[in-house]
Amino acid sequence: MTGRDTDELTVLDPATEEVVATVPAATGEDVDAAVARAVRAQRTWAALAPADRARLLRRFADTVDAHREELARLEVREAGHTLGNAHWEAGNARDVLLYAAGGAERLLGRQIPVPGGWNVTFQEPFGVVGVIAPWNFPMPIAAWGSFPALAAGNAVVLKPAEATPLTALRLAELALEAGLPEHVLQVLPGHGRTAGRALVDHPDVAKIVFTGSTGTGREVMERCARLVKPVTLELGGKSPNIVFADADLTAALDPFSFLDNAGQDCCARTRILVQETVLDQARELLADALAAVVVGDPADDKTQMGPLISRRQLDRVRSYVPDDAPALRGSAPDGPGFWFPPTVLTAERNDSPAAREEIFGPVAVLLPFTDEQDAIRLADDTPYGLSGSVWTRDVGRALRVAQAVRAGNLSVNSHSSVRYWTPFGGFKQSGLGRELGPDALTAFTETKNVFISTEGPAL
Ligand code: NDP
Repeated sequence: MTGRDTDELTVLDPATEEVVATVPAATGEDVDAAVARAVRAQRTWAALAPADRARLLRRFADTVDAHREELARLEVREAGHTLGNAHWEAGNARDVLLYAAGGAERLLGRQIPVPGGWNVTFQEPFGVVGVIAPWNFPMPIAAWGSFPALAAGNAVVLKPAEATPLTALRLAELALEAGLPEHVLQVLPGHGRTAGRALVDHPDVAKIVFTGSTGTGREVMERCARLVKPVTLELGGKSPNIVFADADLTAALDPFSFLDNAGQDCCARTRILVQETVLDQARELLADALAAVVVGDPADDKTQMGPLISRRQLDRVRSYVPDDAPALRGSAPDGPGFWFPPTVLTAERNDSPAAREEIFGPVAVLLPFTDEQDAIRLADDTPYGLSGSVWTRDVGRALRVAQAVRAGNLSVNSHSSVRYWTPFGGFKQSGLGRELGPDALTAFTETKNVFISTEGPAL
């Protein structure tokens, strides 16, 4: 954020600009106190049998499930998400909890035979994990960072984005209601520059999970390096949607491949690469599809796309789309609220800022390619490597392209990127480490190796 850090965070409804809530902003001293409480709570939490931790986390999942509607409505108000998306998000938080709970019971060590004794390995929790979450998917991203960490026996201090602290605060209350010990999951709303940095720099925070922009992620990593602190980074994206001429063009050019969450999605397929022989057809399909998108009140069941998160984000998105830019455009309300119409820029090059930088709004660029090699070259000509889609009916080509493109999450004939039981994360400047899936739990443990001599003196 620009300007001076405030003592309070003002949460605005992005669809109306009404104040939803004000929340005290955590100071550095608040972070110190929360970490001290977390250190104490973690000892007791880690000492529980894994089956007991799992039982409590399942109860937490049931409590989240019982409050799904409330959590979803809160997400609509603070983040402007459509009701349908917000329901998915609350369900995702519950599912991540259940999956993590199962993992707690299966976090096994190994026994490795060695001359003169045995080696036994243990997967031990780090201790206190700091999670820094963004505003674009407040509930899921808080869940992905925090719940596997809890399952592995860590305590968590979570700093949500200043625009969206409410669902995270509610999740922490529900954890207590479900019987999780006090201070095992603490949520500290605050400014990134103050509370975020204090968490990253704290010597008793043993690991950081950060999701957000590549620029801030780089700073977080540099600060972690000073303390040799492990860090997981989920950063930006500029993902390709590679559409070959033989594809199901209507499915491939589904505008929600980049409009979901008003484009504030690190997996958004914002570079639409279309084989040149079907470029005109693609333009027509996209023009019709954009015109049909229902943009408006996110709490209305029929709405397909809501507002952007903030005035700042709206200004940022506008800066990439001059009024006279050649583009296909849908429509959006005038305001109040932070609205931007679905847009596909049609005369960009892959090296222009709109094609290169993460805009984080409902804006994609349309770029032609000639053949398979050209498609792969264009797809990879980006500093990012988070997601992407390949659309073709040729199985061999689909596999060749999916293997060749340097990205962490690729889909063939689909735009889906996230499943709570499969690993998620980026190549190149899209991040470091993986969340979700079987890898998530081990990412929150350190391996300890204990050698037991069988040749020592008899007792
Ligand atoms: P940031 O990366 O700055 O913010 C993400 C989180 O980090 C927030 O909780 C933020 O707090 C916190 N933070 C900010 N500065 C620091 C710091 N120095 N140390 C520790 N934590 C910090 O993203 P922005 O909100 O500024 O969004 C800007 C752009 O970033 C977007 O337009 C988009 O391109 C990208 N972005 C990408 C996301 C992704 O999922 N890949 C998610 C969000 C943004 P605070 O809220 O106080 O700023």
